[in-house]
Amino acid sequence: MLIEELSKQSCLELLCRTRLGRLACAQGTQPYVVPFYFACDNNYIYSFSTLGKKIEWMRANSLVCVEADEVVSPQNWMSVIVLGRYEELPDTPEWLTERAAAFRLLRREAMWWEPAYAKTAIHDGVRSLEPVFYRIHIDEITGHRATREPTPDIRLSTIQLLRRWLVAKDFAAIAWRA
Ligand SMILES: Cc1cc2nc3c(=O)[nH]c(=O)nc-3n(C[C@H](O)[C@H](O)[C@H](O)COP(=O)(O)OP(=O)(O)OC[C@H]3O[C@@H](n4cnc5c(N)ncnc54)[C@H](O)[C@@H]3O)c2cc1C
Repeated sequence: MLIEELSKQSCLELLCRTRLGRLACAQGTQPYVVPFYFACDNNYIYSFSTLGKKIEWMRANSLVCVEADEVVSPQNWMSVIVLGRYEELPDTPEWLTERAAAFRLLRREAMWWEPAYAKTAIHDGVRSLEPVFYRIHIDEITGHRATREPTPDIRLSTIQLLRRWLVAKDFAAIAWRA
């Protein structure tokens, strides 16, 4: 198996055709990661939520990390990792354009508001259904691709194994005749 780096362009293409990723934020030394749906455009990742732990944490510390991938098998996959900054898109006149852009991108998917906007009953209570639109500015993006192509080392050891097998076969033939 061979793991290679993806170009920035391939990373962005993968990100833009993927919908599901993992969003990590942190409070002090404690990381927190959640699955989330997103849309991406123009160096930004757009998503939508209701108020809760990740929004509170990202409001306090805007530095986040996003991971997304396409996995066919353990030997055939691509993944990207983004380091970025959380920006909330409040429902105010100054943010109208950005909020409309987020809405336009997200609503391309049917039922785009689920599961972000869903009644959630936890800790013996129902959480607030205040919608929060946000985007993540992509500061850095890297990507890896794994393919089945064998590495030179593996090719060498396969040849070595074959040689050993042929030698063992010859020995077995000699021993059989003796
Ligand atoms: C496939 C998928 C796609 C999703 N897409 C979105 C999306 O686009 N937008 C969105 O807002 N949410 C999405 N969710 C739900 C999301 O993962 C969070 O559960 C949700 O956003 C609540 O996060 P919070 O930090 O506000 O949780 P809070 O309700 O504040 O969390 C309270 C506690 O619950 C626990 N918790 C929270 N979420 C989860 C979880 N998913 N699994 C296990 N424990 C959890 C944590 O330990 C946390 O401390 C998606 C979930 C899945 C599985």
